[in-house]
Amino acid sequence: MSARIIDGKAVAAALRARVAERVAALSFRPGLVVVLVGNNPASAVYVRSKDRAANATGITARTIRLPSETSEKALITQIGRLNADPTVDGILVQLPLPPLVAAQAVIEAVDPDKDVDGFHPLNVGRLATGHPGLVPCTPAGVMKLLAEANASLDGVRALVLGRSTIVGRPMAALLLAANATVTTAHTHTRDLAAECRRADVIVAAAGRPELVRGDWIAPGATVIDVGMNRLSDGRLVGDVAFAEAVEVAGTITPVPGGVGPMTIACLLENTVTAALRRRSGS
Ligand code: NAP
Repeated sequence: MSARIIDGKAVAAALRARVAERVAALSFRPGLVVVLVGNNPASAVYVRSKDRAANATGITARTIRLPSETSEKALITQIGRLNADPTVDGILVQLPLPPLVAAQAVIEAVDPDKDVDGFHPLNVGRLATGHPGLVPCTPAGVMKLLAEANASLDGVRALVLGRSTIVGRPMAALLLAANATVTTAHTHTRDLAAECRRADVIVAAAGRPELVRGDWIAPGATVIDVGMNRLSDGRLVGDVAFAEAVEVAGTITPVPGGVGPMTIACLLENTVTAALRRRSGS
């Protein structure tokens, strides 16, 4: 039997439309600033997409482009100006940063109430302790895809493959908050295939092309593939061997067209959330 394939593009488009409706009902336009340091081509593409998507929903978005030799001090000073600017509701510093800039110091310089990436330690701590804060966009998007899949999370065994601060860890925290029984796998996990086979829900975020094979998946399981891996022949594939997995899983997301489009849509939602929270003082 073939799995139900979740169309991330459609789910993301619906979310962007809901964000645009919320923005249209406001008496102000939320402001988002993306800070791009250096000339990483992939980052430049992401930043352009974020800018375009934000402006299309009525959010006022702009990008500050800084040269790759920008010092950490100069970058933190720039962030301080954005923190103090009342027209700016969301600040996103595009990662990766040039090698001489300590990413953590920069992340910690962002006002936690404007931290639409959800990477500031205060927001990480809020998520870990089950308090409301700004949640990282990719795991937030995965939760929406799980809702779209009608995946029941209460009490189910969920496996998160990967423990990065951007995806794996916040993903595990969100699944735990939804009452799943969560296992986090990483490179030291002894028998990854066996861990996957036990799971009702798999969220794969390892950055390894087609690591998760069809026979690692329990029949009927829900499989969300966060991976985005460019092969030498130019193809973009996920962390899950899709052609095999689609024959076994109950529900699955494709790559491309699954999690990817959700990330930007959730960034827009976070910007509106940040704008409303800041103005209501909550
Ligand atoms: P990352 O920082 O490189 O983390 C990868 C994680 O996977 C690490 O925790 C690593 O374990 C684990 N891992 C790697 N190979 C493994 C293996 N063979 N067995 C078990 N665990 C393994 O990557 P990331 O930033 O979280 O991103 C993961 C993937 O998601 C990438 O393909 C990335 O492009 C994609 N991504 C997509 C979006 C989107 O919008 N769709 C957003 C962000 C990321 P250790 O900790 O032990 O090293």
